[in-house]
Amino acid sequence: MRLSKSFSKTIKDYPKDEQSLSAQLLIRGGYVDKVAAGIYTLLPLGLRVVNKISNIIREEINALEAQEILMSGLIPKANLVTTDRYDNFDALFKLKGRDEKEYALGATHEEIVSPLAKKFTLSYKDLPFGLYQIQNKFRNEARAKSGVLRTREFLMKDLYSFHENQEDLDRYYDEVLQSYWKIFERTGIRQKTYLVYASGGTFSKYSHEFQSETDAGEDEIYVCNACSTGVNKEIVEGDFECPECKSKEYQIIKAVEVGNIFKLGTKYSQPFELNFVDKDSKIKPVLMGCYGIGIQRLMGTAVELNKDEKGIIWPEGIAPYKYHLISLGENSKQRADEIYNELVSRGIEVIFDDRDLSAGEKFADADLLGMPNRLVVSEKTQDKIEIKKRNSDSPELLELSQIT
Ligand code: ATP
Ligand code: MG
Repeated sequence: MRLSKSFSKTIKDYPKDEQSLSAQLLIRGGYVDKVAAGIYTLLPLGLRVVNKISNIIREEINALEAQEILMSGLIPKANLVTTDRYDNFDALFKLKGRDEKEYALGATHEEIVSPLAKKFTLSYKDLPFGLYQIQNKFRNEARAKSGVLRTREFLMKDLYSFHENQEDLDRYYDEVLQSYWKIFERTGIRQKTYLVYASGGTFSKYSHEFQSETDAGEDEIYVCNACSTGVNKEIVEGDFECPECKSKEYQIIKAVEVGNIFKLGTKYSQPFELNFVDKDSKIKPVLMGCYGIGIQRLMGTAVELNKDEKGIIWPEGIAPYKYHLISLGENSKQRADEIYNELVSRGIEVIFDDRDLSAGEKFADADLLGMPNRLVVSEKTQDKIEIKKRNSDSPELLELSQIT
């Protein structure tokens, strides 16, 4: 992409109404545009990041043999009445259709996926299976002041799994847990992300959250000094004792929840009569699990964890482009153009600053936008290309053929 043709432009001033640094950098870089409190449009660069995150998630969740679907965003009131959530989920956006029919905008999809599963689940032979989607969720959040970390409309990957017995649910839950680590590794946030015990609801003592350490987060986590297991402060009653290793030594950190996994048991299968015929011909309720990841929240978290005073430092796996090519001076323009065309024809993801700006302005924008590698073509580099990693200060000279 040529920056001279880019729809979005970088912004010099910090947006005054944004408190979190990730939102400030994403707005200044032209990744997202704020529509209203808690509502953002993804601009071309931001959408590329979101698509990269989504595709990493797809690869890892497909590896669990879960199948992707896309559920309706409108949820009929009756479905939510069945589970008693129409009046008890306080962040629901409710609306009326024609004929006074009432709906909610999807905030979570147990009420669609459970009756759906019922249509195709007859016997133990149909189990287990996993269904997931990547879809916009709507929540009328009371607090929406952390930029893209907490919004009123956001993409979520929500996976639901269906099982004949507890052992199978437990097995699957552990597999999802491992695939979440792979996702957070590939999206560049694993190092500061903790597995955290949280309250589990009716069917299990605990659920698990994946919490990334950042001051922009709203949660407080007790982290065990011995084994780094976390416990959400909301559920620590009395003195802390690590649920994994029983140590009593801890530190408290601020963190943001990027994902969670939950054993639902029969909470949703019972009200929808989602049953199956077991090997012994008995009718039994299906056991369910649900597993979420917030996509824009993950993007914002990646920025919170990978930035410096100059801008974003995208992890390789989710950077919108791998290279940021800069031409300096009139005499290098044509050569930079040829290099750009060559890289594009080789399928390499490169953003090209072909604008008539000063070196200082171009370098500042490259640092703000945060591609992992900066390429400079100038009279000084002669027939080579200078390459510098965004997170390093030592440039190197390479041949064009060495850039892959
Ligand atoms: P939180 O505790 O932060 O309110 P939650 O427990 O309600 O989130 P879920 O309903 O399980 O979260 O949603 C799954 C994932 O969706 C969360 O782990 C988070 O990454 C993301 N998410 C939830 N609410 C929001 C929001 N308002 N804005 C952006 N992402 C969100
Ligand atoms: Mg939560």
